[in-house]
Amino acid sequence: MAGSKKKAVRKKAAARPVVRKRAPSSRSRHTLTPDPVRVNALLAQLRELYPDAKCALDFSTPLQLLIATILSAQCTDERVNKTTPALFARFPDAQALAGAPLSELEALVRSTGFFRNKAKSIKEACADIVAKHGGQVPRTLDELFALRGVGRKTANVVLGNAFGINSGVVVDTHVTRLSNRLGLTTEQDAVKIEFALMPLVPQESWTLFSHWLILHGRAVCNARKPHCSACPLSPHCPKVGVTVSQ
Ligand code: SF4
Repeated sequence: MAGSKKKAVRKKAAARPVVRKRAPSSRSRHTLTPDPVRVNALLAQLRELYPDAKCALDFSTPLQLLIATILSAQCTDERVNKTTPALFARFPDAQALAGAPLSELEALVRSTGFFRNKAKSIKEACADIVAKHGGQVPRTLDELFALRGVGRKTANVVLGNAFGINSGVVVDTHVTRLSNRLGLTTEQDAVKIEFALMPLVPQESWTLFSHWLILHGRAVCNARKPHCSACPLSPHCPKVGVTVSQ
C-alpha cells in the first residue's frame, strides 16, 4: 500500500467511533424470556412435589373464602382459620355481614390484625354483594374487583379456588421471592409479576402454580436461607439473588 493510501485508511479508522462491547449485566440476563424447556421442567417437578396442593384457608362457600382472604392480609392462614368459624357462626351470609354492627365485626376479627379496616371491608363488600349481586359472590374478575375492599389478588383467590376459574396468578410474598429466584421474572411489583408469569404457565395451572410456589417457599425455598442442596428444583433453578443457602 502506498504511503498516502495507508495514511488515509488510518485517518478513516481514527474517525470511526469506538464501540466497546459490554458484558451483559446479571439484570439484563434474567430479563430475557425464560427458556420454555426449563420452565416446563420446573412445572413438572412442582406438580410432582405437591400433588395435593390446595388453598390453605378453610371455607365452605365462595363468600366464606372471600371473607377469609380479606382477613388473610398481613396475617397467617392458621390465624384466619381460627378466627372464621366464630365469625361465620354469628353472621352466616352476605346479608347478615352487611347488617352486622361494625364494633361486633371488629371484635370478631381483631386477632387477625388491621381489624378496623378488615371489618369495614367485609361489611362494605357484603353490602355491595347484597345490593348488586343478589347476595351471591360474583364470578368475574371485574365484578369482584369492583367490590369495596377487594383487590386483584383477593379476586383471583376466590375465582380460582371457589369457582375453579383461572383468572390470574395469585402473587404473594412467596410467589414474589420464588419467581425471582427461579429466574422467571425480575419484577417486584405483584401485578407486574402476575403478568410476567401468565404467559409462562398454562392457564389451567395458574391457581395451582401459586399454591406450588407458596408450599415450596414454606418448605424449602425460605426467605433467609433456602435449602438449595436438598431442593429438587435445583437443576433447573438459576438461584437469582441467593447469596446464602444450605
Ligand atoms: S434451588 Fe434454591 S433458590 Fe432455587 S428453588 Fe430451590 S431452594 Fe429456592
